[in-house]
Amino acid sequence: MENSRIHALPEEVINQIAAGEVVERPASVVKELMENALDAGASRIEVQISEGGKSSIMIRDNGCGMSEADLDMCYLPHTTSKLKTAEDLFHLATNGFRGEAVASIAAVSKLTITSREENAEEAHQVHLTGGTPDCKSTNASPRGTSFLVEDLFFNAPVRKTFLGSDTLEASRILDTVTRLAIANPNVRIDYKVNGRDVFTGIEGNDLRSRIAEALGAGTARVMIPVDYAEAGIRVSGFAVPPDALKNKRSKFYFYVQKRPIWNPVMTKAVTRAYEPYGSTHAPIAVLFLEMDDVAVDVNVHPNKREVRFANENDVFLAVHHAIRNAFQKPEEDHPTISLE
Ligand code: ADP
Ligand code: MG
Repeated sequence: MENSRIHALPEEVINQIAAGEVVERPASVVKELMENALDAGASRIEVQISEGGKSSIMIRDNGCGMSEADLDMCYLPHTTSKLKTAEDLFHLATNGFRGEAVASIAAVSKLTITSREENAEEAHQVHLTGGTPDCKSTNASPRGTSFLVEDLFFNAPVRKTFLGSDTLEASRILDTVTRLAIANPNVRIDYKVNGRDVFTGIEGNDLRSRIAEALGAGTARVMIPVDYAEAGIRVSGFAVPPDALKNKRSKFYFYVQKRPIWNPVMTKAVTRAYEPYGSTHAPIAVLFLEMDDVAVDVNVHPNKREVRFANENDVFLAVHHAIRNAFQKPEEDHPTISLE
């Protein structure tokens, strides 16, 4: 309508708004791009950052790569090769599904994407500034894909001011890389900060050896296995027993259907399970939850880190009992406990 005050937002503005939700900080870029590499079937991922990821983030994989046509599509909003129908949302086999990450990263950085498919004669490359492609070329890069993200938030000065120091942002990236490295056996992960190796090839195939590589051999050695199922929820992983705790701050690595998540119900369940032992130190646990796809909604927030459980109480009890069970001698009984 001519005299309507309401109008549709220009695409650029829509992308900037969406980018704000997906790309909060350099660590979110690393998370999204590593997840894409995993979805592409990579067996090797290299991550390099400088200045806490603010000046550059490079992620290279040896996955399936993209054709020239796919490369031209991947940075457009809501484009994905992973999800076709709304029904697929309930059976997600991939990390990505919203088709927002590359577009969001592109919108707030200077981005170079290089990609080559298995039998392609050459690799294709595109450079974008603030989401607009400004240069295309070909080169002889090997199979796979690399993303070089430079000058993050160069066009979003307010967002830049909310970032922490380089050291703080780098520690957040390390946490992101660690969480994904733990959960993906058979994928070799290398991580460099300012040209220096942090992880050189995390490549153990079993969970304990990956925990040793990612969290340290000392921690991995004292951890005891957790394996328990209740109410259709399987809880597996490792936890440091109360008498071996040394940390001041708790460290929880939680996964649902192999996705790294944050979840207050799980935190509470684990913390409560440690309480009766009266340790003055903080718990450490790596826990994987597996349940029917209908029992958990992973599409709660664009950052995909939050999930919603159909039955929080079941999750609380399963996790709580799993930890207690792992710590307890067989003759002890479970105390009655509830989420409230
Ligand atoms: P989503 O992961 O939700 O599909 P993204 O914006 O992260 O959305 O990526 C868009 C598309 O770009 C993906 O669906 C995929 O087809 C392609 N893509 C992105 N990263 C890679 C990669 N590392 N290797 C191969 N294809 C990729
Ligand atoms: Mg993705």
